[in-house]
Amino acid sequence: MAIPGPWLVVGLDNGGTTNNATVLDKSGKFLVDRLVETPSLVREGPDVAVESLVESFEHVLEEVGEVPSSVRAVGLDSPGPASANGVISSRGSTNFSHPGWRGFDFRGALEQRLGLPVVYNNDANAAALYAHHVRYGAEAAAHSSISAIVGTGLGGGVVEAGQVVKGAAGMAGELGHVPIPMEGLLAEGQPPPGCNCGFVGDAESIASLTGIEKNLLPYWLTRFEGHELGRLPSLAEAAKFVRRYGERGDPLALEIFRQQAMALGRLFTIAANYSDPSTYFLGGGVVEAGPRFRDWFLATVREHTLLREEQTRVASFALVPDLDMAGARGAAIAAAESLKR
Ligand SMILES: [Zn+2]
Repeated sequence: MAIPGPWLVVGLDNGGTTNNATVLDKSGKFLVDRLVETPSLVREGPDVAVESLVESFEHVLEEVGEVPSSVRAVGLDSPGPASANGVISSRGSTNFSHPGWRGFDFRGALEQRLGLPVVYNNDANAAALYAHHVRYGAEAAAHSSISAIVGTGLGGGVVEAGQVVKGAAGMAGELGHVPIPMEGLLAEGQPPPGCNCGFVGDAESIASLTGIEKNLLPYWLTRFEGHELGRLPSLAEAAKFVRRYGERGDPLALEIFRQQAMALGRLFTIAANYSDPSTYFLGGGVVEAGPRFRDWFLATVREHTLLREEQTRVASFALVPDLDMAGARGAAIAAAESLKR
């Protein structure tokens, strides 16, 4: 255990089923090197969820032998959609379906309950901030990066000069909903892919688990008749197995992941011309896949990211590290940064 600095911050990653917590000291050292999880109870509504976060906060401090009075600030991250300041969307969302969540000031409520400043980020932005800081350390402020995190949806984060770009309405870095060219990406007769946001042909419509279930798998099953995945009771269930098939080199699964990698490469090409980042980070389930498959996927993304020669010399491609802890750790970094400003 590290010697605690003069102050600590706590990072709280609020998820659909669990909260994961971490503690960061003033020197930049994490006092927790594993998942410290407690139930999030978000489906029971905001009052119960805020109390669950307080429990998570107290629990992680106990785990590292610290007291709440050493803590100067708290970082909170959750799935979106939420405003830059942590007000949950008035339309609700998958995780925040309880009616009490609509328009709820999640950050403000936790701040009031803990009596400590709370800094909010959405989960993808928190992970992006963590990846950036791991890569650049003390030089974080001298670099920019972009992170695409492939999960149920396609989360993203843009870090400029070491800071998360939040935007006027808190919606910067919504990389999943950036429309990308479909020409040459879709196979013959493959229908234009729709996204839950209403767009057709954005990055998430291809590069997400939802995209596999709704768009990619239904098409590719027609091209691989009799494939085992077609015998599962639902596309939702089959979609979850596609990665495992990909790791084994299954041709149908590889077609799906090739399209995903192309979509991500095209998304990164837009980023290259828009903000020209130092590092392109890729996160999500594929990071946890076997090394051979993972390396092939990252190389395919890179192959489809069209950089200018000058950019090729300075840009790098990397995976989001410690993915399951990245949200809590990024949230903690944001809280620590707020104390240094
Ligand atoms: Zn979309």
